[in-house]
Order: sequence, then structure tokens, then C-alpha cells
Amino acid sequence: MQSFKSAGICSILDLAVEADLNEDADAGHQTPEETRELFNKKADQVAEQIGTCIETASHMPKSFAAIKITSTGSPLLLRQVSSVLTALQVKFKSMDQDGDGKINKEEFKLLVSMMPGSSSSSSRSAQDQKSAGTLVDDLFKEADKDQDGLVDWVDWSSTVSLNRDETRRLFRQESTDRESGIPGLAAGDVEDYKGLLDRMEKLCEQAKSKDTRLMLDAEQTYFQAAIDSVAWHLQEQFNRIQDANGPLVYCTYQMYLKGALDRLQQDVARARRNKYVKAVKLVRGAYMVSERQRAKTLKLEDPIHANIEATHASYDAGVAFMLEVMAEEQDRLRAGQGHEGVSGVLSPQNSPVVLFVASHNVNSVIRTCERMQALEIAPESSVVMFGQLMGMCDQISFTLGQYGYCVYKYIPYGPIQDVIPYLIR
Ligand SMILES: Cc1cc2nc3c(=O)[nH]c(=O)nc-3n(C[C@H](O)[C@H](O)[C@H](O)COP(=O)(O)OP(=O)(O)OC[C@H]3O[C@@H](n4cnc5c(N)ncnc54)[C@H](O)[C@@H]3O)c2cc1C
Repeated sequence: MQSFKSAGICSILDLAVEADLNEDADAGHQTPEETRELFNKKADQVAEQIGTCIETASHMPKSFAAIKITSTGSPLLLRQVSSVLTALQVKFKSMDQDGDGKINKEEFKLLVSMMPGSSSSSSRSAQDQKSAGTLVDDLFKEADKDQDGLVDWVDWSSTVSLNRDETRRLFRQESTDRESGIPGLAAGDVEDYKGLLDRMEKLCEQAKSKDTRLMLDAEQTYFQAAIDSVAWHLQEQFNRIQDANGPLVYCTYQMYLKGALDRLQQDVARARRNKYVKAVKLVRGAYMVSERQRAKTLKLEDPIHANIEATHASYDAGVAFMLEVMAEEQDRLRAGQGHEGVSGVLSPQNSPVVLFVASHNVNSVIRTCERMQALEIAPESSVVMFGQLMGMCDQISFTLGQYGYCVYKYIPYGPIQDVIPYLIR
């Protein structure tokens, strides 16, 4: 870290420990309760190691600690949460009869009643039915921020969310005889998801007190919806606009995925509506071989762009979109009309988005620098950062450092048996 610093390069300490579903095999001979206990105990241990990572990173200004969410919760839980959230989004789309991306109040009510934890009206007392009706009315009012009587997916998923105490119970499977197409979570899963959020919040508090930032890595698609959900929650809490230290939590988008650009744009809209800074790292993606193999085995659509050219185009489009959002804000700031009444020169404290370009591709790096220049986004504004892995493409990192760009090296470490999957990728 010290030698990088002398070359103008900052560090991201990366405890490269992660978990995948094959770990189920280790737990095969145990009861579900014992498996839960085992994973939670392991997650607590890893969280402690991440705490040490944050502490070490804090010795050098501007450092990050990188986190793989699969190491801080059970992979079984993350897969289950991801499939619930994905099924819910599919159901939301099917509710939207006219295809404008929005549902009205009646459709909203129907969707709430289809949630696995929403007990059927016949089994409810009149009093319960009344309070359930009030809850749905209140939720709709809250979701319909612009009061046009319509709610889109961003509004819905920000309101009816596993991250909120008020709505978490709607995700719990109440009975097995309800067939709405939205799978539910067991009571233990709901509890464990909350436990994961608590673990992550504690780490964020620690990082905040140490003036260190956290980078949430992207992982396999079957975990990613849950990882995104955790990221939304943490960013909403810890990336408040105008925080003197800038955003604390960064999350990652794998631009080799067909839906990545839409998701990125949607999540920037989510952050703007919920008034927090969207800090993102863009990567191409590191799981191509295993993702394609899985899609083939399960006869699913390949989630990855058909060829490398399409991945390059998606990556470039992601970068261009983020820079455009910054440039628009810069124009407003120059005109004295920054959002939320903010003014001054564009910085991580007042920009609605912050971008981390994580790539070894020299064309991506050059294109980003050229676009920044064209849009007059200064390298020293620190709203755009670059990153390469330690031991790779030092010529890019050191050149960027020399020219005053904000540049980072990812420094992976960990017990050898735990970091093998990372090293192989
Ligand atoms: C700082 C940093 C942090 C990272 N964090 C993460 C992370 O959190 N999650 C994660 O998944 N990855 C992460 N990565 C790895 C990253 O996703 C890439 O695997 C790696 O950086 C190579 O891509 P590149 O942008 O450097 O470009 P290049 O060197 O141009 O890489 C091209 C590679 O893209 C791949 N590729 C992608 N799509 C296709 C396609 N459709 N057809 C053929 N090949 C394709 C091929 O493997 C090819 O080798 C990170 C990388 C860096 C530098």
C-alpha cells in the first residue's frame, strides 16, 4: 500500500473469500437448522476478518475494503432471496397490462395480496382485513411518490421490500397451499437476511468511523438480485447527498450481462428518487465460463452477451451513461442549480453518481479519459476512479497516477484454500 501510494496510486484491500453453492455438499449430512447455524457462524467469522481489513485499509487515506457478500451470509439464503426477488419482478411485469412499466392502485393491491406472506382474506378476521387494507393504502401512497396514481418497479421495490421492517413479513411463506407464482422465504431465511443486513450495517458503521470506503463486488447471477438488494439498503443509509466524506458504499455492475445497462439506469433512478448517491464500479464480469455452463445445463437463456464486441459496447455505454449524468449535474452546478440545493464544483460530495472504471482494457480506459475531457470532468474532481488488479496492467495504473487521475490497485489476500476460486478466475 505504501509503495503504491508513493506512485500516486491508492489501495483496495480485498479479502478474496467467497462462498458458492457447492458448499452445500459439506453440510449435506446436517439438519437445515444445523446448516443455518454453521453458515451464520462462518459469516460472523468472515465479518470479523473484514473488520480487520477495514482497520488495516484505514491506515492509508482514501482506501477501500472490498467485500464479497456471499462470504457474509449463506449462499443458500442468497440464492433463495434472489429467486424470490426475480420472480416478483416477473410478476410485476405481468401485472402491467399496458406495458408502460407501471401498475395502478388496483394492480398494486392485487400484487400485495399475492405476496407469500399476505394471508388469504378468508382466513382473516374483519379487523385484520381492515388493517391489511389500510396497510396497502399506506404502501401505495408511499410508493406513488409523484402522485400520478401509478407505480413503477423502482417505486414498488423501494416500498415493498425485504429491507424494511414494515414489509419484510410479506416475503415469508405463510402456507404452502397458495400458488401465486411468487416463492416465499422460510421464517429462518427472513431472520438470516435481517442478520446479514445487521452484519453489513455494522461493517459500514466501522468503515465510516475510520473514513474508509466499502466496495461490494458482483458475483454469480443466481446471487446477484440479493446482493443488489443489500446494496440498495446500505447505499440508502450510508451514501447521503452532501456527506462531507462522499459516498461510503460502492456496488458493482457486470456489463457482460444482457440486462446490465437497464439495471444500472434503473438503479441510478432509484438512488435519485430516494435521495442518495449512486456509487458504482463497472466491470466486464469474471464468471463467463461458469455462467454459460450453468445456463446450458439448466436450459436457460445465456445471460451473457453473445460476443465480446457486444460486451465492449455494453461497457462503453455504461461508462458513457454515468459520465453524462455527471456532466448534466456539472452544468446545473455551474448555473447555481444543483440538485437538493447543492452548489459548487462537481465532487463526490455533490454528484448524484460516482464512477469506478475497473478494467485492464486500454481502450476502455482511454475512451473514458477522452470522454471526461470532452465533458470537462476534471481528473482531480475524484468523481471518476480507475482500478486494476495488483500484478496486472501496471502500465495503465502508473500512467493514470502520473497524470493525476484517481487510480486504485485491488490487493487480494486471504487463506489459500479460501481464495482459490478467485485466483483461478
Ligand atoms: C479492479 C477490478 C475489480 C473487479 N471486480 C470484479 C467484480 O466485482 N466482479 C466481477 O465479476 N469481476 C470483477 N473484475 C474482473 C472483471 O470483471 C474482468 O473479468 C476483467 O477485468 C477482464 O475484463 P477487462 O475489462 O479488464 O477487459 P479485457 O481485458 O478486454 O477483458 C476481456 C475479457 O472479457 C471477457 N468477456 C466478457 N464478455 C465476453 C463475451 N461476450 N464473449 C467473450 N468474452 C467475453 C473475456 O473473458 C475476455 O477475456 C474486476 C476487475 C478489476 C480490474
